[in-house]
Amino acid sequence: MFAHLSPQPKDKILALMAAYKEDPRDTKVDLGVGVYKDASGNTPVMRAVKAAERRLVDEQTSKAYVGLAGDPAFSDAMIDLVLDGAVARERVAAVATPGGTGAIRQGLELIKLAAPDATVWISNPTWPNHPSIIKYLDMPMAEYRYFDEATRGVDFDGMLADLKLVKAGDVVLLHGCCHNPTGANLTADQLQQAISAIKDVGAMPFVDIAYQGFGDGLDADGAATRAIAASFDNVLIAASCSKNFGVYRERTGILMAIARNQDERDLAQQNLSYLNRQNYSFPPDHGARVVTMILTDPVLRADWEAELEDTRLGMLDLRQQLASELRRLSNSDRFDFLATHRGMFSRLGTTPEKVEKLRADHGIYMVGDSRMNIAGLNADTIPVLAKAIIDSGI
Ligand code: PMP
Repeated sequence: MFAHLSPQPKDKILALMAAYKEDPRDTKVDLGVGVYKDASGNTPVMRAVKAAERRLVDEQTSKAYVGLAGDPAFSDAMIDLVLDGAVARERVAAVATPGGTGAIRQGLELIKLAAPDATVWISNPTWPNHPSIIKYLDMPMAEYRYFDEATRGVDFDGMLADLKLVKAGDVVLLHGCCHNPTGANLTADQLQQAISAIKDVGAMPFVDIAYQGFGDGLDADGAATRAIAASFDNVLIAASCSKNFGVYRERTGILMAIARNQDERDLAQQNLSYLNRQNYSFPPDHGARVVTMILTDPVLRADWEAELEDTRLGMLDLRQQLASELRRLSNSDRFDFLATHRGMFSRLGTTPEKVEKLRADHGIYMVGDSRMNIAGLNADTIPVLAKAIIDSGI
């Protein structure tokens, strides 16, 4: 049986992590894997998460199964966090999923059930798991232009031109905020134009929001998703709690399906529960329960929001420090895009050869497409990275 298996493509980021671990240089800098790290390189358990977990241990009286869609209180709290009333609650079907990845997977499977021939359009570039899962599900896929290699901003003309090629009934996958891997995001005006373009062709948006609170603030980061949700009859939204609650390994996420009316919502809800049943039955509960407790308890929520805001401002400060150090060393403003980008990542915009040179000569580890995890930096490593970038002729 297993002899018939063929090797699967290796995960490049995990390979990079392994290489970093083996590098003996004490000056090495890890800008690879997409996990938030504080100034000492730790990925902390957030204060409110610890407090909620303690309370859960004391108060939980049963570990019996919850429903196939997860705890309805989790759905309510997350729909409120992400959509903030942008669409009527009775139009929204939702299931808890194992992380944002699980939500993306279930959303794609729902599309497959409803419209097996629909093409899923993804940004070029995007988070590599998007094409990987779409290909695995054997769904038609196409790319729209997104990143301008010259400005390191959004290639908005290219994006709009490509959105015109989308067919009625297709799906356009969009990042809700903090685009991964580029860090480049649409302005509010560009978003409105993109919404119009997607409406004109009769396609459905699928929003992946994995970094709410990491860009311009918890509320501001939900604005694009809300604008999209309010503009279409049908929208899918995959939201991850991994980053903004720091509960990566608990696998906490949610898929929302916005329907035209309550009947359509009930049908979508029933299909989503069915999909959970086929794939893993009941979704993980611990992280979802912790998130629900935090979102619904005013004291925990205030503390969580404060810590998340500190995290966001810390990353913004690192961006500004790096951009200003590069401005000084290069005597130019060509790296100012780093301060304009938002979220945990920025695409530096250089060749795989230069990325390899940064690793070999300077012990700086970033993904081959030159994606840097900004949270991997600190006040000591910013000058090291800036000098290495200039010395490598980037
Ligand atoms: N979407 C994007 C764009 C991401 O970067 C991530 C995390 N790397 C996810 C979804 C989902 O992450 P998780 O499954 O860990 O919640």
